[in-house]
Amino acid sequence: MTALNVKEIYHDLHQIPELGLEEYKTSAYLADALEKLGYDVTRNVGVTGVVGIEKGEEEGPVMLLRADMDALPFIINGEHVNIHACGHDAHSAMLLAAASILKGKIKRGTLKILFQPAEETLKGALGIIDAGVLEDVDLALGLHIRPVQDIPFGTLSPGVKHSSSTFVKVVLRGRSAHASRPHLGVNTIEAAAAIIHSVGAIKMNPNFSWSCKPTIINGGGTATNIIPDYTSMMFDIRSQTNEIMSELLERFQKVVHCVAEAFEAEAEIIFPGGVIPAAVLDDELTAEVAESIKEVVGAENLMPVLNNTGGEDFHYFANKYPNLKAAYFGVGVAAEPGLHDPNMHFNIEGLQNGVDVLVNMTLKKLG
Ligand SMILES: [Zn+2]
Ligand SMILES: [Zn+2]
Repeated sequence: MTALNVKEIYHDLHQIPELGLEEYKTSAYLADALEKLGYDVTRNVGVTGVVGIEKGEEEGPVMLLRADMDALPFIINGEHVNIHACGHDAHSAMLLAAASILKGKIKRGTLKILFQPAEETLKGALGIIDAGVLEDVDLALGLHIRPVQDIPFGTLSPGVKHSSSTFVKVVLRGRSAHASRPHLGVNTIEAAAAIIHSVGAIKMNPNFSWSCKPTIINGGGTATNIIPDYTSMMFDIRSQTNEIMSELLERFQKVVHCVAEAFEAEAEIIFPGGVIPAAVLDDELTAEVAESIKEVVGAENLMPVLNNTGGEDFHYFANKYPNLKAAYFGVGVAAEPGLHDPNMHFNIEGLQNGVDVLVNMTLKKLG
């Protein structure tokens, strides 16, 4: 079996950017290629996901390699366009290239290749979990290209520690009144202002990173002389660990309810997207990834573990299955100006390193 070329796969996938749960062409391309390689392939997993399985002769662990597939939506010159601005085409390309090298080399255990949909909407991983793909998985390995600000080109980081994140909607209901008689109303804009101020006074342990800030506010109608009885707000909340997140959310909700009550307004708190768990990476597995990186690119190109304030739904896997050992490494490809920028570009010559680490790690466990 000849190995597939990661750059060629990348070029093919880059031409067909599709949004989360709409990765029809992308998933068909990947599933067809896996099937051609001889993997046992299941399509339409969690809507558009693809799983390829290869079993070894001997007993051993079930190891999952995961890449995401979705692109991001932009409006450019008034037109809606999808762009692979987070490099998920590169991730799928690296995983498919690795799968082509690994075919026929699995001696023990089971290799599961997962092409996951809808990472950007943070919904894809949950669909994969609901489909039962993680039930028997012992080890899970994910990867992401890194921007030039994180690590230099040609280097790799053995761990990317994403944060826990959530967005919270706060709806305030008060009482409308003529603005000349404000004492008869309950002004939700004033209550919202007090809530924002009070939330800003919440303090968590400064040794860990966390943040909690309003990002959207809508209140009042169109009349300037009516006391507004409805205001809604969005807060973006993040923290480095799951423990800090639960404490922060507890305090946040207490502040919102207490301040609203002081204004005689009613507060409703909604979590439209749930709470994305922070990375819980297995130390031992991460150390093995570091070994792999050294073997592939040399010790001088091994970077430290990266803390990241972004979210990543891969971490639902270890969150829902506490016995699962997870690792997640970063591939230095000098992505500029940054991820999620419509002009994001990077040096594709760095992708082979990601392929080689995936292969090296898998053979360590299943070879
Ligand atoms: Zn992204
Ligand atoms: Zn991404």
